[in-house]
Amino acid sequence: MSGAQATGAAAVVPLQERLRCAACGADGLDPLLEIAGVPVHMGCTDQPAQDDAFFDQRWATCGRCGSVQLAALAPLDLVYQTQHNGAVGGVWARHHTALAEFVAARAPQNVVEIGGASGALAREYVAEHDVASWTVVEPNPTFTPQPPINLVAAYVEEVDGVVAEADAVVHSHLLEHLYEPRAFLRGIREQARRDAPMLLSVPDLASLLAQSGANALNFEHTYFFSIELLVWMLRDAGYTVIEPQRFEHHSFFVEARPDTEPGAAGPPPDAGDGTRAFVRFVETARADAKELMARTEAYDRPVYLFGAHVFSQFLVGCGFPAQRATAVLDNDPAKQGLRLYGTPLTVRSPAVIADAGPAAVIVRATHYTAEITEQLRALAPEVEIW
Ligand SMILES: [Zn+2]
Repeated sequence: MSGAQATGAAAVVPLQERLRCAACGADGLDPLLEIAGVPVHMGCTDQPAQDDAFFDQRWATCGRCGSVQLAALAPLDLVYQTQHNGAVGGVWARHHTALAEFVAARAPQNVVEIGGASGALAREYVAEHDVASWTVVEPNPTFTPQPPINLVAAYVEEVDGVVAEADAVVHSHLLEHLYEPRAFLRGIREQARRDAPMLLSVPDLASLLAQSGANALNFEHTYFFSIELLVWMLRDAGYTVIEPQRFEHHSFFVEARPDTEPGAAGPPPDAGDGTRAFVRFVETARADAKELMARTEAYDRPVYLFGAHVFSQFLVGCGFPAQRATAVLDNDPAKQGLRLYGTPLTVRSPAVIADAGPAAVIVRATHYTAEITEQLRALAPEVEIW
């Protein structure tokens, strides 16, 4: 299948070619590897399976900075067709608390948050810290604002003046989703007051890649940046960067002041480590899928996948036969009963294995694997964990 085509409902939708490096802006990208027929959406759905869309992922690298990135971008309305990050627990609750403290240390009175669909960071902030207004600018909000939280239901590029009024511009896990992050950073710098910092949180993509590439790079996170490359991107867009702060091995918090001239950052740092880690990840995942396929074929009991998210989709994309699995197990009640997009598999509560007799569960959940294994063994002591 050619990279410009898709199967499923999106067969007539062309991909958008990426002509310049997302991180450094250099012309031309060098092909690296392809993953054929990947589900375009990372969530769950109740639509008929024949309506799912699949695209080839064509990964490429920048000849200047070495950043690995998608050479062709999927339509945003397909990628984000449902919200799939609704649940805020564990690490995300800690992240929002820590990011709110990072913002509060600068004591802004009028905050503009770009993105922030669920309002979770805004609510965390106003519950713990004083602020005159916290304005969320988000085209697809899933919450109803209460003062001092305001909501502007639009893309920030569509709203005049809102950024200029802020004494701090906040965004959390937004930059890695943007198809044109350089234009975004320059646009905010142009509109923001010179003394109004941008306070941002981004994923630690290098750590994520080391743990699981599918969570790091996919149809949502379409380009790799190390913290060094991010700092360079901010300088290049006209910001002075204050020392980034690490949050666990999960995120970086950065203060960037829009007070210098764009385009004066010099050559970008090399991001080739990310490329090498991604290639290793894909090779390992393909070998793993092959081994699991052989194991499944030799096993005459039910086999389940654990996790109704990108990990399971990626395993299927790497060749694991989804139709051979009985279901996907997931602890999120909002997903149970739905189908994992791009697969024939219904999402079930892990409790189903208690009554299923001997069975195997494939668990590929990085640092959650031990906790999940313990949960499954408590439900069904004889369960096999693959
Ligand atoms: Zn580049």
